[in-house]
Amino acid sequence: MKKSIRNFTNEYDLYLQDESRKTGYAETVSFPKDIEEAASIVKYCCENDVPVTVRSGGTGVGAGAVPFGGHLMSMEKIKGLKMGADGMSVIAGAGCSLNEINRFITINTGGNLFLPPDPTEGSAGAGGMVSCNSSGARTYMYGPVRNYVKRLTIILSDGKILDIERGKIFASGRNFEINGEALGGTGKISGKLPGYEMPKVKNAAGYYIKEDMDLIDLFIGAEGTLGIVTEAEFSLVEKPKYIWGIIAFFRNEENGIDFSEMVKGCDDLSNSIMSVEFFDQGSLELLREKAEASKGSGGFRIIPSEFKEAVFTELKGEAHEDMILALKRLEDLITAAGGNPDDAWCAVSGRSFEAFKELRHATPEGVNNRIAEIKKSCPAITKLGSDMSVPGKLFKETVKMYKRDLENAGLEYVMFGHIGDSHLHVNIISRNEEEYFKGKEIFAGWAEHMGMIGGSISAEHGVGKLKREFLVKMYGEKSEDEMRELKKIFDPKGLLGRDNIFLWDIVR
Ligand SMILES: Cc1cc2nc3c(=O)[nH]c(=O)nc-3n(C[C@H](O)[C@H](O)[C@H](O)COP(=O)(O)OP(=O)(O)OC[C@H]3O[C@@H](n4cnc5c(N)ncnc54)[C@H](O)[C@@H]3O)c2cc1C
Repeated sequence: MKKSIRNFTNEYDLYLQDESRKTGYAETVSFPKDIEEAASIVKYCCENDVPVTVRSGGTGVGAGAVPFGGHLMSMEKIKGLKMGADGMSVIAGAGCSLNEINRFITINTGGNLFLPPDPTEGSAGAGGMVSCNSSGARTYMYGPVRNYVKRLTIILSDGKILDIERGKIFASGRNFEINGEALGGTGKISGKLPGYEMPKVKNAAGYYIKEDMDLIDLFIGAEGTLGIVTEAEFSLVEKPKYIWGIIAFFRNEENGIDFSEMVKGCDDLSNSIMSVEFFDQGSLELLREKAEASKGSGGFRIIPSEFKEAVFTELKGEAHEDMILALKRLEDLITAAGGNPDDAWCAVSGRSFEAFKELRHATPEGVNNRIAEIKKSCPAITKLGSDMSVPGKLFKETVKMYKRDLENAGLEYVMFGHIGDSHLHVNIISRNEEEYFKGKEIFAGWAEHMGMIGGSISAEHGVGKLKREFLVKMYGEKSEDEMRELKKIFDPKGLLGRDNIFLWDIVR
């Protein structure tokens, strides 16, 4: 054990942050190479009352992988990729990155199959994607990571291994029992699920709870609080023959939002549109800076300054004629929304398509870099990024509320993301501490609003350590207590992912 666990020294400082730029501290660190080593570390820590924070890719934005004391376990060395027995799934070690997984699938299926959720950041790890129930642009058509998780291997707080497969263990109402085979024949775990109802929008806030639920779903999106994922099997689906990317630009504000609403409501396009992604003026400004800095290299074209909004859509299909028809339909909608189809960019394959995807990725990355820069002179600042989703019919008025509140407060912001799922990321670029606290207050107000309108305070990033207060606003204290009680069943000392989702020690 001594060999596996090292004292935390400066050389590991990078492991004290994730992409939220929140910084923590730890006493020890480990890099287990396989499940046995990881399980013995967890067992040792739990026997010695040491909290364990687990990290895969470290690309999370909620500080869930940021430790505040105790042990930090990095899963980056738990690799290993293989195809499932039927050739229709991939089995990945927790430390495999999304890029590695995608490359492996392409090579081993001749490009015929793919893993649809595309959480944008290719260095995210399999363990983190499962534990955050990540999603991304293609969630619009295909749903989040949860929909593709077929089997998980999980280390529980006492070091026991849980091997859980979809379709095998179900709750009865809100009661559950896991026993026998799944736990390697060693005992049983039973208890009661919380009583809350999840909002009917894209949601990654708090534990996934439903009557009669498949118990595998409890561990997906649990943010390292119920167990440590060492291996995941993901189902794959057939890759469409054609995938084209179209970026529609608009010269007037709100035309982009109108266009997105039209695309979502268009029956003719319902089988073709894989994603609908929005960029506001601030996001386009960040992309212009990036294109200018790269001087057109890497496929980045400079976006003309007259464009105020843009919407990226991905079209899919099996026949070229259908693609042309869908493209024409999109052109009609661009015109109907007040834009000009001649302003749009279209990529049908290869490098130009990749460049569009890079553009999408460059937006949050640009924000993160700006925050990192400001943080040098103002260390208290972390990324202030919202991740809220709302019922579709309330989307337009919610965006108006976002803009009104931010502009009244005089804050710099960018707004971008998964408009197809009524889910935009509002990122505030605080230039000093005063703006930072003002931004936090605004987000807290919105979180309360989400609770009232059936929205979610986190559609895809999870709660981590940065959105715990928002979760209470969304579900209330009773539900938070029930989540804590559920955690106690799997982790009686509250050592795994301590203080993720909710504070462990709380006095009411
Ligand atoms: C530029 C950029 C773009 C992004 N875009 C998207 C997007 O479009 N959609 C989206 O959903 N997310 C997005 N993200 C957020 C992030 O990439 C995802 O949340 C990702 O799934 C996190 O994976 P990770 O391996 O980096 O997790 P980490 O940051 O390592 O950890 C995240 C959480 O999961 C827990 N965890 C990690 N590994 C394990 C494990 N093996 N077992 C149990 N718990 C574990 C951690 O304790 C922590 O709570 C983006 C991030 C960046 C930087």
